[in-house]
Formats: sequence, structure tokens, C-alpha cells
Amino acid sequence: MTRNDPPSDDHDEQFRTNTAVHNETENTDETGETAANLDSFADRFSGETNATADPEDATEDGPSDPTSAGSPQGLFDDLLNGEPIFENKDVLRPSYTPERLPHRNEQINNMATILVGALRGETPSNILIYGKTGTGKTASAKFVSNELETTSQKYEVPCEVEYINCEVTDTQYRVLAQLANTFIETNERDIGSRLDELRDLEERADADPAAPESTEFDSPGALEDRIETLETDLDDFEPVPMTGWPTDRVYSTFFEAIDYRERVVVIMLDEIDKLVEKSGDDTLYNLSRMNSELDNSRVSIMGISNDLKFTEFLDPRVKSSLGEEEIVFPPYDATQLRDILAARAQIAFVDDALTEDVIPLCAAFAAQEHGDARRALDLLRTAGELAERSQADRVGEDHVRDAQEKIELDRVVEVVRTLPTQSKVVLFAVILLERNGAQNINTGEVYNIYRRLCDEIDADVLTQRRVTDLISELDMLGIVNAVVVSKGRYGRTKEMNLSVPIDDTEAVLTSDSRLGNIEDVKPFVQARFDS
Ligand code: ADP
Ligand code: MG
Repeated sequence: MTRNDPPSDDHDEQFRTNTAVHNETENTDETGETAANLDSFADRFSGETNATADPEDATEDGPSDPTSAGSPQGLFDDLLNGEPIFENKDVLRPSYTPERLPHRNEQINNMATILVGALRGETPSNILIYGKTGTGKTASAKFVSNELETTSQKYEVPCEVEYINCEVTDTQYRVLAQLANTFIETNERDIGSRLDELRDLEERADADPAAPESTEFDSPGALEDRIETLETDLDDFEPVPMTGWPTDRVYSTFFEAIDYRERVVVIMLDEIDKLVEKSGDDTLYNLSRMNSELDNSRVSIMGISNDLKFTEFLDPRVKSSLGEEEIVFPPYDATQLRDILAARAQIAFVDDALTEDVIPLCAAFAAQEHGDARRALDLLRTAGELAERSQADRVGEDHVRDAQEKIELDRVVEVVRTLPTQSKVVLFAVILLERNGAQNINTGEVYNIYRRLCDEIDADVLTQRRVTDLISELDMLGIVNAVVVSKGRYGRTKEMNLSVPIDDTEAVLTSDSRLGNIEDVKPFVQARFDS
């Protein structure tokens, strides 16, 4: 076996690949990004215009009809002339990396204690980090990774951290390709600067043949050989294309690139549960077995998961290797969320922009939402935006309540929009019944309407049992609230009510072209009383 073969301790163990990894297309969701860019563009625009606008202009004409021709008050003037509330809104976005992370000292110190070995040239234990969304896992991991790299540069020890978000990079092919290409780049950079040095030396040797003698090269020939080897190495690196190579070729390219020189590499796999869910545990299996095959470098894996139970799906060997050390990120309580928000608000808002109940209320809402700091920051930002839009002087409690409603509604709309058609039909049946004044709707009633709706749109009719399952799913998603009630000798049934706003939900459903075509819904509602 050559060192470039995939690692395997026993001969019947093959390098594990997932054949479905080729021909991937990028599915990165960029909507958030674009919205962020637009907003920050608007912020910059607002800043500049405020600085140069003549306040006299605005007051002289008073508020005017923005559509009237020749008016100096354009569509945007009113919006711009209000006092700004935000100083720097981006600070409240998930992409911002805070400098300090209150209430995460313990977790950060634990990570550092494990990873410090990398700075001594040892291989740190693999780490698994768990915690619900918004508990600061990504922020803490990035913080530790920056510190580790800074320190390694300070002491000139070869230690590198590679961060991969597996929600985006979600197949073995992509993970290995990204790693391979990153190391190819660092190698090329290293070789490039080394070649510069050596060519420099070569020039000096031409002028003064004794020059190389004070270096590691005892002859001009040795120097020339070294330059030639480096040039060949440089030519040999071939970056991995986005798709198309067999996975074992991607793997060996990655393997060679990482092992090209001595170094300790910490590979951070964020949202690792998404990778396992989508592509199985092959990647982790292969990565966790590399060290026995590497000659020059060492790899340590740090997996970050939102799902506490994801290791149940792992091969036992992967599970024990990956979970050498485990660090749990507990949810934040309301007091901790207040501290986090207060630190951020200081930079995000202009002085005195928040009334005093704003932060406690955001913290309280987010604490109910499993202690999610992301949610707390979203609330604060949305509340600020709503205040800005209504041209209020300050952000108040009402803005926070409206923001909470808006975020919740956005969530519902997104959940309903992405439901499978069958679930949408079931939900539509519930809505039609409620529209007709029904309460505590039972499964049988839903099923009757559901069947007729399916006929109408030419969809397959599922059994009542399957529909009951779909109702349970809607219940789990928080869209309906279903309780099991006993009907004495008639057995048990589920009774449900819609737990989301009916108009918005119906609008989302009818925007689906299949459901939108149902014309007259009245006869269906009659079914409740007919059958
Ligand atoms: P996770 O990865 O656990 O889902 P993140 O690390 O992405 O959570 O955190 C969500 C948001 O909350 C980010 O904007 C992050 O900066 C912020 N955040 C989380 N914990 C803290 C903290 N202790 N201090 C300051 N900001 C925090
Ligand atoms: Mg995260």
C-alpha cells in the first residue's frame, strides 16, 4: 500500500464512498445575503444623504404629496429625514462575529484546553459540540479558531484550522474538494514564497559563488535541484473541479495536499448533522481514520451539531472516534440573553434609541424560544426596523411585540409554503371547516373534505390512517393543535383547531397553483353536514 491509498486498517475495509455524490449543483440560498446587501446599501445611502441634506428644504414645504410633479419631496425624502435609529445595523445580523462572547467562557476554555495540543505539534482529540440553534456554537468555534491561528502564527508553529459549513457543503465530494483545494492553495502559496527566496539566493550565488555556503545548500547544484523539485511539486497540484471526479481521486488529492508538509490541521465541520442526514457518515469515517496513514501532518476533527441525537445514525467506530471529547452548549436564560443583547445594542443603535423594556422583552421572548440568541437578535433588529419604518423616535415595547408577531408569521408562511401537497390539502380542509364556523374539528370531518378536495385537484387519496399521520405532523409543526379525545364506546378521535392566522395561511395555500385552482369551495364545506 502506498501512502496515498485511502486509509484502512483491515483489508476487507474499502474506502467508503457514496456513489450519489457526482453532478452536484450549488444550492446555496442567497436570498438572505441579497436582502442584507440591499439593507446595508440603504443604510449607507441614508447616512450620506443625511449628512449633506439641507434641513431647511424639508421644513419649508412641509410634508407634500410625493407624486405631485416638481415637488422637492421625493418618494424617499420622508423616509430619510427621520432621525436614524440604527448606528450600525449589521452588528445585529448573524454574519457579524462579536469580539466577546458573554456566558460562553466555560465552553471556550474547554475547547482551548483540548486544542492547545495542536500548538505543541500534538494531535488534539476530536471534539463533538452539541447545542440547540442560537446557543453560540458557531460564534464560539470561530472565535477559538481565530485565536488558535493567531497564536500559531505568533509562535510560528504549523497549525491550521479549516472551517466548513456542512449545510452548504453537504456531500462527501464537496467537503473533500473544498479541503483539497484549500490545502493546494496554501501549498502553492508556501512553495511560491520559498521559490522566491531560493531564486534570490541563486542570483546572489551567480555574483558570489560562496553565498549558498552559509545556507542549507552546500553547492549551487543542490540549490538548483531544490528549485527544480519545488517547481515540479507546484506543477503537480491539480485543483479538484466542482463535480466529475471519482470520490477516491478527490480523496487522494486531498490526502496528498494535506500531507505535503508537516502541520496539525483542525477541521471544523459545522452543522455536521446536516451532512450525515444528507450524505451518510462516509466523510466522517474517512476523515477520522486518516491519521494512521499520514506521514507529515495530523488531522483533528471538531464536529458541531444542532441535533443532540445525531450520533445514533453513526457507525459505532465513527461515533467513538468523533466523540472523544464532548462539549455541550446549554440554552441561554433570559438574564444571559439580556447581557448579549445589551452588548450588541450598544454598537447597533444610536444613543438612547431603545426604551428600557425593549431588551428585557426581546430576551424574554427568545428565552421561551429555547434560549436562542439568534432569535433574540432578530427580534431586536426587526423591532428597530419597524420603529424606523413607522418613523418613531425610539424603539418601544410595541415594536418588539409586532416584531415577534412578524417573525412568527414569517416562520409559519415558510413552513406552510414548503409542505408537501398532501399535507397542504389536509390543512386546506381544516381551514375550510373553520371558515364555516366549525370548532374542535375531528379527523373524520377533515377526511371527508380532504377526499373531495383530492378529487377536485386530481390528487391521490390517502387512507384515513395516513391522513391522521399528516395531522400529527401539522401538530408537531405548530400549525394545528390536535388533542386525542375519547368518544366512549365509539372509540377515540383527534380534535383539532388551527393554531396559525387563518387568512395568511389560506393565502399561502392558494398561492400553490394546484390548490389555487379550486374554484367554489362552498359545496365542500357542506359536506360536514351532509355526510
Ligand atoms: P449556533 O451556531 O449555536 O446556532 P451562533 O453561534 O450562530 O449559534 O449564534 C447565533 C447568534 O447569536 C449569532 O449572531 C451570534 O453572534 C450570537 N451569539 C450567540 N451567543 C453569543 C454570546 N455568548 N455573546 C454574543 N453573541 C452571541
Ligand atoms: Mg451554528
